[in-house]
Amino acid sequence: MRMQTVRGTSDILPEDQRYWNFIFNVINSSAEINGFEKIETPIIEYLGLFEKGTGETTEVVSKQMFEVKRLSNEPSDDKEKQVLRPEITPGIVRAYLNHGMNQWPQPVQVFSIGPCFRYEKPQAGRYRQFWQGDFESFGTDDPATDARMISLAWGIIKDLRIRNVKLEINTIGCSNCRSQVLDSLTNYFSKKKAILCKDCLSRYNKNPLRILDCKKVNCQKATKDMIPMKDQVCEHCQDHFSQVIDFLKDSNVPYSISNNLVRGFDYYTRTIFEIGLKSDIKRQSTLLGGGRYDNLIETYGGRPTPAIGFGFGIERIINIIKRQKIKVEIAEKTQVFVAQLGEDAKRKALTILEWLKTEGISARAALSKNTLKSQLKMADKLKAEYAIIIGQREFLDGTAIIRSMNEGIQEVVDQEKLMDKLKEKLHLK
Ligand code: AMP
Repeated sequence: MRMQTVRGTSDILPEDQRYWNFIFNVINSSAEINGFEKIETPIIEYLGLFEKGTGETTEVVSKQMFEVKRLSNEPSDDKEKQVLRPEITPGIVRAYLNHGMNQWPQPVQVFSIGPCFRYEKPQAGRYRQFWQGDFESFGTDDPATDARMISLAWGIIKDLRIRNVKLEINTIGCSNCRSQVLDSLTNYFSKKKAILCKDCLSRYNKNPLRILDCKKVNCQKATKDMIPMKDQVCEHCQDHFSQVIDFLKDSNVPYSISNNLVRGFDYYTRTIFEIGLKSDIKRQSTLLGGGRYDNLIETYGGRPTPAIGFGFGIERIINIIKRQKIKVEIAEKTQVFVAQLGEDAKRKALTILEWLKTEGISARAALSKNTLKSQLKMADKLKAEYAIIIGQREFLDGTAIIRSMNEGIQEVVDQEKLMDKLKEKLHLK
């Protein structure tokens, strides 16, 4: 008898490695540009981590956990159940607390890539072992951070060149207004019980928020006259959400507000978002999902610390890359390296990277590096032809320095003329 892979798992053959390398490359360079550092946490964790965080009654924890069999002679102080992680966020939050990262300069920005396990019914895009990419930012609830994370997520999907995607956002309120929102939903759905499915009747008692994302036609009909979440949450959350939207508009990220968007985990608060294919109306093969989780660190015994993150499934992305016949060559050489000094300059550097991308000029940056020397060293290593340097003075003057990396010659230009000048130098016009 031939040996088989375990149900819902698969081999990644040599011919597929280029897809994985392509995605790892996009993840690593997005992390570097936006100042995220890599973290890896164990695949085995205590069940309590997910029960307390992800939520004891969520599908993932109550039905899809792979428990690790323990030997009967384990030390008596280590009898707690151990499981294979179904998602990455709780492990990173645990590590944040275990290693005193709350004492580091905030925000702490980290990312991770690795396998996750869910005991699901295997089908297209749904596996028992799958890989997730994951980005987390701790220590600020500034709406600009929400917009930056959403824009980072959108940028990753765009850098992977996936087409026909949509970004949906919503707010689900904070710990102050959640109970009031749930009361109002319970009241609303009490008049719709006759058309709710069996699962939603149980959700009605446990967590009526989850009714919003039921795929059944009648349950969707039942939500039709509901007051949008963004108008039900408290004033504080409304204000936060409208600022997130303003920042998103400024960064030209094409979002749509989806009143029915909720997420499957208990820890989410305020802003939540998902990216999926436009054709996936029922949201059954979401590529990426995330949101704020301002109470999770406190739930794990830490001091109240706001945080936001997102995760995306690598196999699902590969399926789409194959379906859309996307070429997966790894970006060749770097033409321009954008170096910055200071917070204002960092923001400007991101805008310049966007300009360069739009012009089809391959560009890199390293926002986590704070000295010019280390950034120029990296530009050298990448064999960039030019470096653009923005310091505090250039930020205030509206100028930028163009440095020829081969000759070491520098020139100051107005930011408005920067693209024209660069294209000239790169012989693109
Ligand atoms: P979640 O952690 O449930 O928010 O999921 C984040 C992303 O992981 C999803 O958008 C999917 O791309 C991916 N994902 C979740 N569950 C699975 C699965 N069973 N198989 C493959 N990918 C998955």
